[in-house]
Amino acid sequence: MSTHPAPEVDVVVVGSGPNGLAAAVTLARAGLDVQVLESEDTIGGGARTLDLGLAPGIVHDICSAAHPLALASPFFDAFDVQARGVRAIAPTASYAQPLDDEPAAIAWRDVERTAAGLGADGPTWRALLGTLSRHQDLVVELSLGDKRSIPPALLTPRALAAAPLFGALIGLQGTPAWNLPFRTERARALLGGVAAHAIGPMPSLAMAATAGLLGTIAHGVGWPLPVGGSQSIIDALVADLRAHGGQILTGHRVRTWRDAPAARAVLLDTTAGAAADILSNRLPASLERALRRFPHGDGAAKVDFVLSGPVPWRDPDVGEAGTQHLGGTRAQMAHAEAEVAAGKLPQRPMTLVSDPSVVDPGRIHDGLRPLWAYAHVPAGDTTDPTELVTAQVERFAPGFRDMIVAARGIPASEMSAHNPSLVGGDISMGRVTMAGMIARPTARLDPYRLAGTGWYLCSQATPPGPGVHGMSGWHAARRVLAQEFGVTEMPDLSPA
Ligand SMILES: Cc1cc2nc3c(=O)[nH]c(=O)nc-3n(C[C@H](O)[C@H](O)[C@H](O)COP(=O)(O)OP(=O)(O)OC[C@H]3O[C@@H](n4cnc5c(N)ncnc54)[C@H](O)[C@@H]3O)c2cc1C
Repeated sequence: MSTHPAPEVDVVVVGSGPNGLAAAVTLARAGLDVQVLESEDTIGGGARTLDLGLAPGIVHDICSAAHPLALASPFFDAFDVQARGVRAIAPTASYAQPLDDEPAAIAWRDVERTAAGLGADGPTWRALLGTLSRHQDLVVELSLGDKRSIPPALLTPRALAAAPLFGALIGLQGTPAWNLPFRTERARALLGGVAAHAIGPMPSLAMAATAGLLGTIAHGVGWPLPVGGSQSIIDALVADLRAHGGQILTGHRVRTWRDAPAARAVLLDTTAGAAADILSNRLPASLERALRRFPHGDGAAKVDFVLSGPVPWRDPDVGEAGTQHLGGTRAQMAHAEAEVAAGKLPQRPMTLVSDPSVVDPGRIHDGLRPLWAYAHVPAGDTTDPTELVTAQVERFAPGFRDMIVAARGIPASEMSAHNPSLVGGDISMGRVTMAGMIARPTARLDPYRLAGTGWYLCSQATPPGPGVHGMSGWHAARRVLAQEFGVTEMPDLSPA
């Protein structure tokens, strides 16, 4: 690893998150000289796995843990992440929604098993998510495209069946009529828990689109957890980048354009606001204002636990899932999300939990295991979330408190201490709305290019938005190649 920025390179990428590295790998594969500048001492942004010193041998996914998008993403497919030794294992159950007064609702990978557990709503679930999961590639192309071009898969006859169904699901789940297709609370809550990933008032079209995409993948490739943690995905990207001459400099925060070496193109894996700060007075005033105006979303507060054994879920099926959504009924989740949006800390916040050892026993050391959790809280909230999250898990797993050996809670206000992009705990680099999914961070034909400066935005602040999929980086790299280097063909990313 070099210790100073190179004096001059073809391309600089600011930020080593999944999108920054996706862009860097693509551009290095095209034969360009690439340098990545990362503000933290560790590489990987929202996909790092770190030893927090809570217990010997135990490592924690400090941001992302479950990777439905990485496994389904066209970028990671082209990169062939699995052929590079990343073993991402999908649990038999993708996600679970425990409830207070009845058995949990479980989204098994097997859609028939899921439907069987949903009683009267089984046929509807099968007709909606079962059908969509048979067209996972189309749903993914629709959701993860740059929203500026028509993905080729959508020009096939198959798309005539899947696209309208996906649209109908979004239309139904994104409006106050969202309960209509389902008769039982179990199915409503199950899909509501997935929608809540988008963080915000429920229902909304953006949350429904999130539920449609993640709900579809749950019965397709599933919601895999990488063996050893999310870092293994980053390590594969870094190895490829270095093998193609790319360099990464850590501990180097770019606050102004002067902090980056001269380059023909600079890609920012940062928030829109940071891009405005870095390029202050070098952008057209209207663009600079628009970047600063892109609103941040509500907050997330993280807790990493060390447990002496598995979470004692009241309903043991819940422990089969890789991810648990703890919020109770759809109405309870909507209430908690509304409180968050109003700036009030809920007593029972929407909480997400994952025990990676459900598929990766190697994460257990001396009988101890990590548990990943985060809760939705108001932006910038200063409360240590440990007790709130503990109580929410205890609600569905009595005795959980007694399993806790160690815990580290990070309030939303302090999330940016380990990644400057997590402003106030906003894990999406900007509010997730339907319009925003298309016009992130501003309404322009090319959301990546920063107005002819040779600078580009390549983070999740651009389409398609949040998640470890590398697609924002890939879309931005495509434009850099064409606009700055006259290269119109994307390089082969495969390991060969
Ligand atoms: C608690 C939490 C849980 C999550 N869970 C999941 C999950 O399970 N599955 C999933 O798919 N997604 C999850 N996400 C979201 C996922 O982490 C992000 O969508 C993804 O990491 C975005 O990638 P990115 O490259 O755009 O940004 P980031 O991953 O945030 O990377 C940005 C990088 O740029 C660096 N940087 C920023 N500004 C500067 C600067 N000025 N100078 C130099 N470097 C800079 C940062 O340090 C960081 O390394 C989660 C996020 C959080 C916080």
